[in-house]
Amino acid sequence: MTASRTVVVAGAGIGGLTAALALAAKGFRVVILEKAERLEEAGAGLQLSPNASHILIELGLQDRLGSRAVTPEAIGIMSARSGGEIARLPLGDAACRAGAPYWVVHRADLQSALQARVNDNPDIELRLGCQFEDVATDADGLTVVQRSGMTRQQEQALALIGADGVWSAVRHRMFPRTQPQFSGLIAWRGTVEATQLPREYASKRVQLWMGSNAHLVAYPISSGRQINVVAILPGRWSRPGWSACGETMEIKSQFTPQQWPAPARMTIGAVDGWRKWALFTVPAGSAWSSGAVTLLGDAAHAMLPFAAQGAGMAIEDAAVLAKCLEGIENAAAIASALQRYAGLRRARVARVARAARQNGKIYHLSGAAALARDLFIQTIGARRMLARQDWIYNWRA
Ligand SMILES: Cc1cc2nc3c(=O)[nH]c(=O)nc-3n(C[C@H](O)[C@H](O)[C@H](O)COP(=O)(O)OP(=O)(O)OC[C@H]3O[C@@H](n4cnc5c(N)ncnc54)[C@H](O)[C@@H]3O)c2cc1C
Repeated sequence: MTASRTVVVAGAGIGGLTAALALAAKGFRVVILEKAERLEEAGAGLQLSPNASHILIELGLQDRLGSRAVTPEAIGIMSARSGGEIARLPLGDAACRAGAPYWVVHRADLQSALQARVNDNPDIELRLGCQFEDVATDADGLTVVQRSGMTRQQEQALALIGADGVWSAVRHRMFPRTQPQFSGLIAWRGTVEATQLPREYASKRVQLWMGSNAHLVAYPISSGRQINVVAILPGRWSRPGWSACGETMEIKSQFTPQQWPAPARMTIGAVDGWRKWALFTVPAGSAWSSGAVTLLGDAAHAMLPFAAQGAGMAIEDAAVLAKCLEGIENAAAIASALQRYAGLRRARVARVARAARQNGKIYHLSGAAALARDLFIQTIGARRMLARQDWIYNWRA
């Protein structure tokens, strides 16, 4: 196979695997480099709103994902101040308007569904235990240097896509001045067997608890057998990675009876084995594309997860990238196609990142400001609250 049809994707996360499938559907040969030896169970829940689910369905994921993903009926907005639900947003309505489902899924289930689809595709080669190291440009395209253990290899390619996450080696190689920034917030996550919670708290609903300087999100995953629990708290601990052990006593001590009602504390108390990760962002205004190299997903624009769009934006990037590259066969045309991709994505991703940051501030209000927030949500009502998300959910590539 000639280099002129080969695109190298660094990273087999959600963005990289989706990009590989979308590019192969446009006729490219794709080589995915993934530094992990195997794609493991790391991580917990991800939310996939209709803007993302419709892309996965178009790529043929419906059957493989449908049985593992849960379609929640509503988002319950709960206020720690008032002690209960202040609005219930009917997700079925939003999905109807957008023409695609709202799914919540274990990250490992999504990754293994994507991997199975990749393995079925003869135009995609997934190289596990193989990390991106370097890239050089020549007249015919790119030479991508990769390492497996002690062995270095080279691959000729038309383009290189850095889908290697927030700590991207491709970004570091191309744009070394762009550094991830610590947000001062830590995500604590764990899972609970659904049978351990009262039915009301293990239902097909996304629960968002807003408290003073913290919030808590819980929703079912793994066909509803487990409840994914994520608590967001301020903190100084800022080590990279996705799976550090979290001390149960530390998180319990933050969810005090003075500030949190019993159902929220019960959910926290039911988690056995906390993991935590420090939340870093990459400014969406940083450079993404240079020549035949571009970035995608968290490598380009890691954002706070408070609009539940981290995976969604990576999936959207993949679809737009594949459209921009469609029909291109020579190195001369690739740079402008990649600039076009970045140009098409930048404004939307920046707007979603701003919305996520704003949500975080609103969720963490306290005192009179929290009271005003709760009254505002109750006054405008669930349907109008949800319609405010239409610009995110109704997007199409
Ligand atoms: C292990 C893990 C667990 C996560 N858990 C959650 C979660 O529970 N909830 C949540 O909301 N989000 C989670 N995320 C983040 C979420 O998946 C992303 O925010 C979102 O899906 C965008 O994904 P991405 O493909 O851009 O990057 P990522 O999902 O971060 O994937 C990047 C991939 O690139 C690989 N990689 C890194 N460097 C190299 C290199 N030099 N060469 C080759 N490969 C490389 C990584 O091993 C990884 O597989 C997790 C990410 C990871 C990696």
